[in-house]
Amino acid sequence: MKNCRKCKSEKLVKNGFLKGRQRYKCKECGFNQSVEYVGYPEKFKVKVMQAYLEGVGIRALSRIFEIGVATVISWIKKFAKELPEIETAESVQIVEMEEMYNWVKEKKQDLALDCHLQY
Ligand SMILES: [Zn+2]
Repeated sequence: MKNCRKCKSEKLVKNGFLKGRQRYKCKECGFNQSVEYVGYPEKFKVKVMQAYLEGVGIRALSRIFEIGVATVISWIKKFAKELPEIETAESVQIVEMEEMYNWVKEKKQDLALDCHLQY
C-alpha cells in the first residue's frame, strides 16, 4: 500500500501532517502525498459517525474534523447501509427516554406521597 503514487517507489518518508493525515514524501521523485489518500482510517470514520449520532451537524463535522461536507455525507450513507448497529443507536435513545419518563413518573409519585404525608 505504501507506494509512491507517482513513481511507485516504496521509499516514502514521513513529512508532517496535512488535515490530520500523515503526509509522506517520496525519496525517489520528491512527490508529497498522504498515504491515507485511499481513504481515512476506519477508527476516524467511526469517531465522526459517533459525533454525528450525538447530534453534531454535517457542516459542524466538516469543520471539526477538517473533512469535506460531501465526504461526511458519503460516510453517513455508507454507514447507514453497512453498519446495522448504527441504526440501533436510535432505539437506544428511545430506551433512554423511556427510562427518563419512568424516573419522572416515580418522582411525581414520591412528590404526591410527600404531599399526602404533610396533611
Ligand atoms: Zn515517487
